[in-house]
Amino acid sequence: MYVGGCLCGAVRFEIKGKIGNIVYCHCSLCRKAQGSAYASNGIVASTDFSFTSGEAVLTGYESNQGQTKYFCRHCGSPIVSKNIAHPDQVRIRLGTIESAISEKPQAHIFVDSKAEWDQICDSLPQYSEYEPNR
Ligand SMILES: [Zn+2]
Ligand SMILES: [Zn+2]
Repeated sequence: MYVGGCLCGAVRFEIKGKIGNIVYCHCSLCRKAQGSAYASNGIVASTDFSFTSGEAVLTGYESNQGQTKYFCRHCGSPIVSKNIAHPDQVRIRLGTIESAISEKPQAHIFVDSKAEWDQICDSLPQYSEYEPNR
């Protein structure tokens, strides 16, 4: 079980299952959404994810057709994104999880969009766009 929440504390959530497909996404949308060099995202089953408080405080932005990023309207913390093509899964922003995470990042994706000031210093696989077999 993982727990987490937004910066101001209004939004709280829990994850009952595993976090899969953890990647560092360097795409331009993720960089803007996070205000950082990349986003650290993982995928959890929709049935394993639930808000324990503050769901009404979330607001959403449809950054791609069918894909909406949800964030806290008070503090701006990005929490999850959902894609209507994949209703069975929720993409979680790992930085909002407070529990120790046992799963490890698997790859850097969209490195062709990487910020020129960002240097990748680990040995994880790097993919120009999505990693294969996603
Ligand atoms: Zn908040
Ligand atoms: Zn991205």
